[in-house]
Amino acid sequence: MRIVPVPCLSDNYAYLVIADDGRAAVVDPGEAPPIVAALAREGATLAAIWATHHHPDHVGGVKALLAAQPDLEVVGHVYDRDHGRITGLTRGVADGDTIELGKVRARIIHNPGHTLGAISLWLEDEAAVFTGDTLFAAGCGRLFEGDAPMMHASLQRLAALPPETRVYFGHEYTASNLRFAAHTEPDVPAITAALADVTARRARNEPTTPSTIATELATNPFLRASAPSQFADRRRAKDTFK
Ligand code: ZN
Ligand code: FE
Repeated sequence: MRIVPVPCLSDNYAYLVIADDGRAAVVDPGEAPPIVAALAREGATLAAIWATHHHPDHVGGVKALLAAQPDLEVVGHVYDRDHGRITGLTRGVADGDTIELGKVRARIIHNPGHTLGAISLWLEDEAAVFTGDTLFAAGCGRLFEGDAPMMHASLQRLAALPPETRVYFGHEYTASNLRFAAHTEPDVPAITAALADVTARRARNEPTTPSTIATELATNPFLRASAPSQFADRRRAKDTFK
C-alpha cells in the first residue's frame, strides 16, 4: 500500500491510496485532471472515491471521474447521502464503519464541526488518517455547520489516535497556521521550530503533508486548548475558534 498526495486547485490535497493489487481509492478529488494524471503516473486503476465532506473543493472532480468510470464506489457520510450533497454517492457510512480497498481497511471517524457530515478515514494498520478540513497541520477547519464544542470533541477524538499516525490533511495552510500558533503561544519551542522548518520547506515549494498526531499535539493550538500557555492571555484564547 502506498499513499500519493495529489495537489488540486490552488491549495487542496487529494490523495491516492494504492493497494498492492494496483487498485486505488482517491480521497477528496477536488478536480479530475490531476487525479487522472497521477493514476497514469503511478500505474494504478481507480476503484473508489472517498469523500471527507461535501465541499466543492473536495468533490468537484467526482462527476468527471464517474463519467469516465461509472462503476466507481463513492463513499461519504450518511448525512451527506441523506441531504443529497455528494453527486453519485453509492455508499453512505457512519462512525465506526469499515471500508476496504483490497487489503487496505479504513475506519470511519465521524467528526462534525466544519460540516455536519465530515468524516476522517483512519487506516489503523498503516498508521495513517485522512482528515479533510477537520484537522490541518497546526490548524483546523472553519465552523461552517457545527459549533465550537462539536469541533473540539471531533478534534479530541483525532488527538487520541496513536501518536505515530500520519495525518493527511486537506489544504496547504501549514505556514500561516503556524504563524497563528506562534502568535497564541510565543514561548513554545516546538512551535517556533516547526514554523522555521515549514517556512523553509514552503520556500522550496515542498508540500508539508503528512504531519503526525505527535507533531500536532506539540504544535496545533486547537489540540492544545487545555495547555497552560493557551490561557496566558484570555483574549488570545478566545480567538482560538474563529
Ligand atoms: Zn471544506
Ligand atoms: Fe476544503
